[in-house]
Amino acid sequence: MAKETPFVPVKVKCPFCEAESVQRYIKSRMYQPEIVEEDSHVATYKWENPEFVHIRPNFYHIWHCPNCHFCDETETFRGEDKSGGKQELIREKLLIYSRMPNSFIARLGAAIDFGKDEYSVDSALAAHILAIYEQELLSPNMRQFNKLARFYLRTAWLFREKRDLSLMDASIPGGFESFQAFLESFKAEWPGVPLEERAALETALLRYQDILNHSSNTDVKFEINVMNLIIAMLRRMGRNAEALRAVRGVFSTAAKARQSARAAVQKGVNVAQNQGILNFAAGVIDKSTALAEELGEIVFKEELPAAREAVLKMGPVDAKTVLDKLREQKFSDITCRRLSKMFEKQAQTKK
Ligand SMILES: [Zn+2]
Repeated sequence: MAKETPFVPVKVKCPFCEAESVQRYIKSRMYQPEIVEEDSHVATYKWENPEFVHIRPNFYHIWHCPNCHFCDETETFRGEDKSGGKQELIREKLLIYSRMPNSFIARLGAAIDFGKDEYSVDSALAAHILAIYEQELLSPNMRQFNKLARFYLRTAWLFREKRDLSLMDASIPGGFESFQAFLESFKAEWPGVPLEERAALETALLRYQDILNHSSNTDVKFEINVMNLIIAMLRRMGRNAEALRAVRGVFSTAAKARQSARAAVQKGVNVAQNQGILNFAAGVIDKSTALAEELGEIVFKEELPAAREAVLKMGPVDAKTVLDKLREQKFSDITCRRLSKMFEKQAQTKK
């Protein structure tokens, strides 16, 4: 009997160079996410067959053409590309670069162990970084924020896994001491190449913010999901004050959506749909109220020493001036209000 495998091989024609290659899916019924972190990263999977526990399905998210090194998601390989002709612009450049043996694309592409039964984290990293590089062959105003945001976030996850799961270097390209050193060699050509989790997260965050800045506000659920993801990333990076501001943003977006959905229900417009939005908004408002409280305490604790010192430097002032000056110095609202109140109480007891 043939050995059981979670992979399904599938022959595809590369949408760029038309070479045929065998890519693979993982049978989705064979595993389930077990522990999912705030930023959607699946920390552990539960496999039906315990022999497969070492397999990380996210390693296989990006397909790779071994001929021209085009790297992208399965949909694009299968011709379901919705980029509106943007792929064509990438194609021209990629086909030229991939034929140059010393090009970024050829060198990084060669580090992907395409023929291996299973991908190593290094192969997955190389494929993800290539996928980003290829998308960024487009000029900045032509780029697809959605795709880039996703690719950067997924790359951050891979760096996290390599570190947290202590995944060893699989094969180190000649002339380098480690796979990391190999990746770092690309910095000269591409200063922004993501080389560790934090850097990949920082850029993912910017691209997710791009999505919000360019959204047409038609889908409040989508928008709030993106905002929640941004909050999770900010918290992960310890940027708690920004996370707190973003939570307030979620709250007011949900409150606005609730208001217009309520008005629509009263007028009898799309009642079922708007009722759904009302329920959704109520849940979001509850959650973000609790999260704002939790984060507020964290931020206050973090900012307190510096804010106290700032107040001491102010000399003889009143509580209102304390509030204004702390705000000027960009302390979080909760810190400004609490310290000004503390100041007021102290002043009263002195009298
Ligand atoms: Zn190809």
